[in-house]
Amino acid sequence: MKVLVATHITQGDDIGDYCATVEGELVTPAIPPCPDRLCGCARGFTGLGSSHGTTTAIVADLAHIDEHLLSNTVSDFLRRTGRFAGLSARDQYTLIMHHTYAIMRAAEKHSIGTVVCRTEALIFARESLAA
Ligand SMILES: [Zn+2]
Repeated sequence: MKVLVATHITQGDDIGDYCATVEGELVTPAIPPCPDRLCGCARGFTGLGSSHGTTTAIVADLAHIDEHLLSNTVSDFLRRTGRFAGLSARDQYTLIMHHTYAIMRAAEKHSIGTVVCRTEALIFARESLAA
């Protein structure tokens, strides 16, 4: 299925680009709003393995990943990073599916190989900025 993975492609093309993720790891665009307006996380994706951020992700078609494996990976990430603290089982499930569908929606909107960027809830192809 189509997912978003971290990429160094086009890193540095925009002022303020950052990438501390592992190349090719699954990323989520569903990052809660941050109170620090100068922080770059509103422009970032978080790696589900490294828990670090990147401003560039690429749409990839990974045949070994299905919705079940993706949601399990999201669940592991959320548990490991403490995002389930204080949440009921129902709210944990809602949060897992929020991330899972955000990844699937973003990947589905773009063709394979498209480098995407993010500004809060908006995810767009980086190439479109250069046109
Ligand atoms: Zn932040």
